Amino acid sequence: MTMVEFKINIEQIYFRLLAEFVNFPSDPEYILGKMTKQIKDKYNANLVALYIHNEYDQDYHLSSYASINDSFLPEKIISKKGNHNKNLIFHQFPYGHHLKVYPLHFHNTCSAMLVIATEILISEELYIIEETEKFLGNITRIHEERTNNNNHKFLLDLSTKLFSETNKSRILTQIIQDLNILYPNFTCTLLLSQDNEEFSYLPVKTIECNSTSNLSTKTFITGECQLAVMPKEQKVYLYAPLTGKQGIYGVLQIVTDKVIHFTKKQKEFVKQFSQLAGTALERATLYENSMHQVNSLSLINDFAQKLNANLEVLEIIKLLREEIIHICQPAEIGFVLTEDSRELKLIDQSTMFFKTVEGKRFAKQIYLQLSTNRESLFSGKYSDEALPFNSVMAIPINHSSYRHGFTIILQNDEYSFSFESFKLIETLIQHATLALSNAYLKDELHRSVITDYLTGLYSRNYLESKIREDMNQGEMGVLLLFDIDDFKKINDKYGHHVGDEVIKQVAEVLLFYSGSNDVPARWGGEELAIYLPNRTLEESEKIADLIRNEVAAVTEPHITMSCGISSWVRGEKHSIINLFIQTDKALYKAKNKGKNCVVKN
Ligand code: GH3
Ligand code: MG
Ligand code: MG
Repeated sequence: MTMVEFKINIEQIYFRLLAEFVNFPSDPEYILGKMTKQIKDKYNANLVALYIHNEYDQDYHLSSYASINDSFLPEKIISKKGNHNKNLIFHQFPYGHHLKVYPLHFHNTCSAMLVIATEILISEELYIIEETEKFLGNITRIHEERTNNNNHKFLLDLSTKLFSETNKSRILTQIIQDLNILYPNFTCTLLLSQDNEEFSYLPVKTIECNSTSNLSTKTFITGECQLAVMPKEQKVYLYAPLTGKQGIYGVLQIVTDKVIHFTKKQKEFVKQFSQLAGTALERATLYENSMHQVNSLSLINDFAQKLNANLEVLEIIKLLREEIIHICQPAEIGFVLTEDSRELKLIDQSTMFFKTVEGKRFAKQIYLQLSTNRESLFSGKYSDEALPFNSVMAIPINHSSYRHGFTIILQNDEYSFSFESFKLIETLIQHATLALSNAYLKDELHRSVITDYLTGLYSRNYLESKIREDMNQGEMGVLLLFDIDDFKKINDKYGHHVGDEVIKQVAEVLLFYSGSNDVPARWGGEELAIYLPNRTLEESEKIADLIRNEVAAVTEPHITMSCGISSWVRGEKHSIINLFIQTDKALYKAKNKGKNCVVKN
């Protein structure tokens, strides 16, 4: 054989193998297996083995070999800092003295070793080295390009799938599915920073950030991939951060089933994968949040509109109660008013618990707490051993610096209420407070219009409107008209101021004898009246006499009163003017009879 024949032959072998690798994509191991086999045949060798440099331990690992018998071959050629001593290697192999080890260089580093054992000497060593280096270089380059393209395509496909989705659970499912395709033999888990109980059907857990020596924590904090090899466990742990544009949402954990080496490229791919996953999760979270906000805003808007239409205090509280139940389904809900008295006043819309002794004690306790903190209370672990409630929200009903009262919302389980629902309810209560203040103002205005300033009795206007109303709807009624006897003398003797005080004393007696449906009023000056709906003239005469006697007994300075009474009954001809005239006449008669008496008409 001549040199030229050799040259053509080995070039041909490598050319054909390369063509096959290009046209029929396969694992590089497969084509390298063919390579060792064909070199063995070509040189009629006993053994041809290819060892490839391993970035991870810097040794040369057996990649493929062909031999005439199944003799034992070392798994790797140990290299000391890249310096391999050929003589040292020799005795590791079972083939005689014609064993040669050819270091193969690629980009100035020794990237592989070709071991050939022959019976006769090969004369063209330099040539073999040169051609094999070229061949391995080409295979590596093509394989890398192919892997890059595949990875690129994979990530592109994944991003198309993930970014068409805004549902977090579907995104997580897709990520897990793709991880299972990429690494069917490894255990992949997503450690997420938020509470993820709802995804318990997926390999998704909440990240534990309890120790910075923990690699998942380190990844989460630094945003850098972390790798740990556990030779005893025969496992490699790889962690990559799920990074979005605004933050890190968790960590991808990959656990291998044996000790393998992740190349730089592979790690880079995992990093890109987890970045994509992080960005998709971020997008879904932002979407979810904005949907929440939109829902909250429209809820607040609806509530505000309803409030505008309802100005009654109790209606407002009822509306508020409905919204709170809708938002957080509490076990108990209480509305407590604190104004105008040191006693707390429970609004009827409160649930049963607050009407019990325990409930009242609890409301008092919360009241004291709110008074010192002057802020809402939000606790997922409220410790009150006497009570079964662990989740507590208590929100003051404040307008300006004036406190109307507060709302207490309770649930049995710990951490039942979300912070978002707390904030939302707080906003609703602020809106309700404004409406409540308006309602209180309106009530107050109404009261002042219908109330006589000096006596606190109803005004004459109100009395008249009540009588009119009753004449339309009721069956009968009696008007009592009182006039203080010789009142001028009181004024003359004690002064106008004392006269006023006497009128107030009389008013108190009238109030005392008035039932809840009766209307005691100041008719004008020192004349007072009571309208008694649904009473007979006889019954009313007794009441008038009781009042007259009481006034005569308790007033200081002492006065007496005359009283005229008159009634109307449905079916008989009646009018309010007529009732007034008749009552007035009766009073006139009483005066003429000598005063301090009751005359009915
Ligand atoms: P009698 O009714 O018994 O006929 O004698 P009288 O002295 O009470 O006479 P009359 O009812 O006609 O007069 C009412 C007086 O009461 C006139 C006025 O000076 C006084 N008076 C009316 N309104 C008030 C009031 O709001 N405060 C005080 N202090 N005096 C009033
Ligand atoms: Mg008078
Ligand atoms: Mg008088």
